[in-house]
Amino acid sequence: MKPFIHFRTAGLIIPMLLISACCIQPVNAQKKSGKTSNDPLSKEKIEAAITEAYNLYKNDTEGKNADYIKELANVDPNIFGIALITADGKIYTMGDVSSMVSIQSVSKVFTMAKVIEEQGHQAIQDKIGVDATGMRFNSIVAVELQKGKEINPLVNPGAIASSSLISGQDSVAKWKNILDIQSAFAGRPLTVNWPVYVSEAGDNLRNQAIAHLLLAYNRMYFDPVQSTDLYTKQCAINVNAKDLATMAATLANGGVNPVTKMKVVSPETVMYTLPVMATAGLYDDSGIWFYNSGLPAKSGVGGGLLAVCPGKFGIAVVSPPLDAAGNSVKAQKSIRYIVEKLQVNPYLIQPK
Ligand code: GLU
Repeated sequence: MKPFIHFRTAGLIIPMLLISACCIQPVNAQKKSGKTSNDPLSKEKIEAAITEAYNLYKNDTEGKNADYIKELANVDPNIFGIALITADGKIYTMGDVSSMVSIQSVSKVFTMAKVIEEQGHQAIQDKIGVDATGMRFNSIVAVELQKGKEINPLVNPGAIASSSLISGQDSVAKWKNILDIQSAFAGRPLTVNWPVYVSEAGDNLRNQAIAHLLLAYNRMYFDPVQSTDLYTKQCAINVNAKDLATMAATLANGGVNPVTKMKVVSPETVMYTLPVMATAGLYDDSGIWFYNSGLPAKSGVGGGLLAVCPGKFGIAVVSPPLDAAGNSVKAQKSIRYIVEKLQVNPYLIQPK
């Protein structure tokens, strides 16, 4: 076989090839590890963005704690923590990321994901619905208008229906399933804030009414009183900003928890979960949120808000004061600031 390089020129060509190989190698290596200086997710850029957001909004006094669940009015309104966890498990935090608040509506995402995992995505669409109702999260009218159809698992009726669909012979087995999935997403065993649970359970006739109305339309799949109780307990699970960010990062990483490395749900389940968050994650301001951030997200009246940058990171903020729509004021402002600063809105497309 003829040698590719003539021996007389090899003395010149081989050093040249070596030089170019040396120049190319670090670029390739950088690409693989994602650490180019232009990487919007470099350690320096993330730390700068979350620090700036924290300092910008730490003295913001807009909003007030939810008080329709009495215990929530007693939560320290000054809790303010930001956590960002990348899809490969790097953790960045700022402020108070250890104080606990009740997860409230944020939990709806993970119970929905579990039902998708167990029954397939079509079951959620057929048995609950995946349409934004355009009405309050606890609207009875929304159920009545469509005879229990065309709601979604992120408003109370759909979330109570999700609790009724979760697998388990009885409410004890169903509860274990719910707590296990929330904990797997968070990467640690979560527990219930009993004062919040008792406070809400003693005063949730409206949710009971919703569950019974769904039953009347054959859209409740387990005992309505017990399903409402499961849902109420689920909402009272305690979390901090880091837990919520881990939950979001697990979605961002296609269902594998990037901190524990445990497979929690399938990539397909995540694929069907994120669009519901995009259309119905922030109550009546879901459109405004998505328009401005491009990130599927979910908030809760406890003051937590998490958002998912698919394939890149999960982010969460805990700060109890809410705006009129029921979303944490500081959380919305901080995450929007960080998304803009890091230029990570998935719809920001650089032309080829
Ligand atoms: N447990 C609360 C309720 O049912 C959840 C509300 C929320 O965070 O949206 O009213």
